[in-house]
Amino acid sequence: MKSIDQIAAELQGYDPQSLSAEAVTAFLSRLVAPVTETETLGMFDALGRVLAQDVISPVSVPPHDNSAMDGFAFAGAQLAAGQPLALAVVGTALAGKAWPGQVREGECVKIMTGAIMPAGLDTVIPQEMAQQQGDRVIVPAGVVQPGDNRRHCGEDVMAGQPALQKGELLTPAALGLLASLGIERAPVVRRLKVAYFSTGDEILSLGEPPREGAVYDSNRYTVFGLLTRLGCEVLDFGVVRDDPALLEAAFVRAAAQADAIITSGGVSVGEADFTKAMMKKLGDVAFWRIAMRPGRPMAVGRISMQINSFSPRQMDKVSSFNGSDNGAHSPGAILFGLPGNPVAVMVTFLAFVRPALLRMMGARDRTPPLLRARSAQAIRKKPGRTEYQRGSVQRAADGALTVALTGNQGSGVLSSMVQGNGLIVLHHAQGNVAAGEEVDVMMFDGVI
Ligand code: AMP
Ligand code: MG
Repeated sequence: MKSIDQIAAELQGYDPQSLSAEAVTAFLSRLVAPVTETETLGMFDALGRVLAQDVISPVSVPPHDNSAMDGFAFAGAQLAAGQPLALAVVGTALAGKAWPGQVREGECVKIMTGAIMPAGLDTVIPQEMAQQQGDRVIVPAGVVQPGDNRRHCGEDVMAGQPALQKGELLTPAALGLLASLGIERAPVVRRLKVAYFSTGDEILSLGEPPREGAVYDSNRYTVFGLLTRLGCEVLDFGVVRDDPALLEAAFVRAAAQADAIITSGGVSVGEADFTKAMMKKLGDVAFWRIAMRPGRPMAVGRISMQINSFSPRQMDKVSSFNGSDNGAHSPGAILFGLPGNPVAVMVTFLAFVRPALLRMMGARDRTPPLLRARSAQAIRKKPGRTEYQRGSVQRAADGALTVALTGNQGSGVLSSMVQGNGLIVLHHAQGNVAAGEEVDVMMFDGVI
């Protein structure tokens, strides 16, 4: 397990006072590692989990050559260019049963979609293309080629081959694929436990009466939603007051129970609270100013499980001991100390925390590709920081994708995230955007 200083030393031009978004990503990929414990789950419970091992298919899918259409099966070698072919219908092959007979030259079998191809036959003419005359069928010239409309045994998955690989997220399609192999239970990585709490004396919990200068805790719910959608087990610690004893207790309890701790608030420069001091006291933590908007301040590191007991050097020893213990709890939890502003929380989560948590979950990188869309308006942007503006992507009358800003882009304006369906990513070196110019968009609709 590397310390914060060791990771920092590996990165070119690491500057905690002005870190690029790319450097944050590179740092986090070195800080976090996949959890190793696994369990075996039935299909209904495995949705959203990550496969812990390759799944080698015990069977081929489909298990036989079969027909892709309702029609007539025959041997394609009889087709002659420019000539119709007349065939006698000698039987019917239904799905789910093998047709037992032998088909000779000049003969065909009526066949249903999914039915096993009778021995020696390789071609199907769809019913609507065939001309039926009593017990005979005419295959008009040029409508089918030998091998048409036949599905091959194993064309989806071949017996003995990996059907899904370790690190695959079990989506609805992946669950269906496993089921198509007859697999009832799958080895998956255990759920990641993520503790969350909000900090700040001005933060009200739901149910508390409004008070001058205070705001209701929205981050607790956005983070709960983001983590739940990601398939994490959420350990909710609510609001923790700006009191050293309470903060210490929350961090220590969270570190003992969770793989990762997410906090919001209290990491800005000049904060008059105890959050940063407690992170420093209990862990190996870096405090960053990221060259981004929204979401400049962020704290990242590890919080140890016991009060003030591990120096980074001692943590190294504990980790190697646990490493030989095959997946026992690591000594503490990864800390993501997010800014307080509600949009900054969501943006830093999407940009940095989500990919890091996926890595901890053992999932391979699932970052969706950025879309290119035409900006509906001019956007002011200073080079030297990455901006994530909230946008609404739509298809314009000419068919092109366009993206419009969702009003006020303040880092506290949560309605901009509700109205938008993606983040317009204005990269580090990018300057002003002209109306009609194409920009990159990170879609979040369907992701969160
Ligand atoms: P901070 O990062 O602590 O300086 O907070 C920045 C802004 O975010 C302040 O306006 C806070 O009131 C607000 N804020 C902090 N935590 C929360 C929260 N949990 N829910 C809603 N707003 C918050
Ligand atoms: Mg604060």
